[in-house]
Amino acid sequence: MKTFDYIIVGAGTAGAVIASRLTEDENIKVLLLEAGPHFTSIEDTPRDLLDSRAVSVDAHDWHYITQVTPGRDFPYARGKVSGGCSAVNGVISLRGLPQDFRAWAAAGNTGWDWEDILPMYKRIENDIDFGYASYHGSSGKIPIQRFKPDQYSPVVASFKESAMADGYAWVPDHNHPNGYDGVGPIPMNRAGDGSLRVSSSIAYLLDAQSRPNLTIKDRTMVNKVLFSGKQAIGVEVIHADNSVESIFGGEVILSAGTINSPSILLRSGVGPVDDLDRLKIDCVNNLQGVGSNLIDHSLAVVASYPKPGIVNETDDDVQMVIHYTAPGSSHINDMQIYCLGKLGAERFPGADPTRGLMFGTGIVINRPESRGRVTLQSSDPNQQPRIDHRLNSHAEDMRKMVDGVRRGYELLTTGALKDISDGIAVLTDDMVNDTKFIEQYITDRSATIWHAVGTCKMGPATDNHAVVDQYLKVHECTSLRVVDCSIIPDHVSRNPMLTCYAIAERLVDLIRAGH
Ligand SMILES: Cc1cc2nc3c(=O)[nH]c(=O)nc-3n(C[C@H](O)[C@H](O)[C@H](O)COP(=O)(O)OP(=O)(O)OC[C@H]3O[C@@H](n4cnc5c(N)ncnc54)[C@H](O)[C@@H]3O)c2cc1C
Repeated sequence: MKTFDYIIVGAGTAGAVIASRLTEDENIKVLLLEAGPHFTSIEDTPRDLLDSRAVSVDAHDWHYITQVTPGRDFPYARGKVSGGCSAVNGVISLRGLPQDFRAWAAAGNTGWDWEDILPMYKRIENDIDFGYASYHGSSGKIPIQRFKPDQYSPVVASFKESAMADGYAWVPDHNHPNGYDGVGPIPMNRAGDGSLRVSSSIAYLLDAQSRPNLTIKDRTMVNKVLFSGKQAIGVEVIHADNSVESIFGGEVILSAGTINSPSILLRSGVGPVDDLDRLKIDCVNNLQGVGSNLIDHSLAVVASYPKPGIVNETDDDVQMVIHYTAPGSSHINDMQIYCLGKLGAERFPGADPTRGLMFGTGIVINRPESRGRVTLQSSDPNQQPRIDHRLNSHAEDMRKMVDGVRRGYELLTTGALKDISDGIAVLTDDMVNDTKFIEQYITDRSATIWHAVGTCKMGPATDNHAVVDQYLKVHECTSLRVVDCSIIPDHVSRNPMLTCYAIAERLVDLIRAGH
């Protein structure tokens, strides 16, 4: 019996947008399923989810572990709450660049070029600083603003000075489509006095949740998609009391994120047949790409002890970033250096904990060649999937990261930043000049900044890694789509949240156009 037109799995960044937009048409009935809790008002939302000044990586989390590099385990945060990662993240709101989407389209993904995506970015945002510009929006649901000079901490003011002395141009708007190299304030999802994080749940669901054609079931985990042949006809869910229910609907949209969307597909029998056989899961669709093509942004930190009184508990973690193009790179603007305004010694092995808070530079590679994988360890939905990031496993990524660490060190040891420094933690000039040493430093310390994409890659059927087509429909299946960060074929040159919103908005347009 068909009760819903769409069953959306995951009320996260993408899922909340799709549910809200589709139910603007009162004739469309949507069921939105979320494994975590859904808070129905700002007043009822826990403080950690509202606080834009700190990530929340424990209280509303899936508590996954990844291997960032072979043998090195690392906690991998994923929001388990309506709003998903947008409810717990660092609120950095950067757009991808035209070059990213040109490549998506050139790979056979018609309808995903920059001209298709720019209107989505504009629709999403209320850019408080640049909303008047032709390439920005001022009436979207996601407020975006940048820190102003009178809000810069001493570290940030010095970072700006050092960066400009090093030749980085001033970039007032890092979301300008030209993607200028240079230093500037980070566009951030901050509302009110700047301290409120506006998640996709707050922005899209609070208004929509009372619509009679939208049903939201929280604390409900989807185990698998139910099929008739290769047609999705519903989902099997596990409720908080462990009872199991089958729910049927017209079309199933997986928006469970880069780790869990491929996991659900695999548990449902969609994936590489050898992997499914190993787990005794009946194969519905032998699709080799499911779980492959995991791409993430790797971070390496250079840390400095501050002179007394420079860093305070109340300082923001990040306010400003440099974008630059790695030497020899075919992608412009493919690297970031964050100004880390406040850094706890406990987050930096080898630092002297008696010397209090530090500051630093955070080097990130945004267009990596390295690829990891998500696989199942078991068909039990309560056992986490195996996540192998393989960060910096490609020699070209390591080369760019080594160059980046040297730049980060240079910034901290010259000019205005040197003036507020009381010495660099762990590293010396000799170490920084030793390429082998820095490679090991990066391997031992690199972390992800939680930007996983790509495990249900969008691409034509001729691409072995492709899982969905340009309408985000799973190849060879019917009534089944994946719509979240997992469909991103190659990483965008910036942090992925805004692109995830854009993907969800684009999907709604595609559905409305009859696809
Ligand atoms: C700590 C942290 C900081 C980050 N900082 C930034 C940042 O500053 N800027 C930026 O651009 N990006 C940032 N990111 C990344 C960005 O937030 C994510 O890439 C993006 O929000 C992911 O959106 P999504 O829709 O793909 O998945 P999610 O937002 O994760 O949504 C998936 C949803 O599905 C639910 N779900 C999963 N499995 C099931 C299941 N089996 N049944 C039912 N529901 C399920 C989840 O609980 C979740 O609500 C950060 C991420 C994290 C974790």
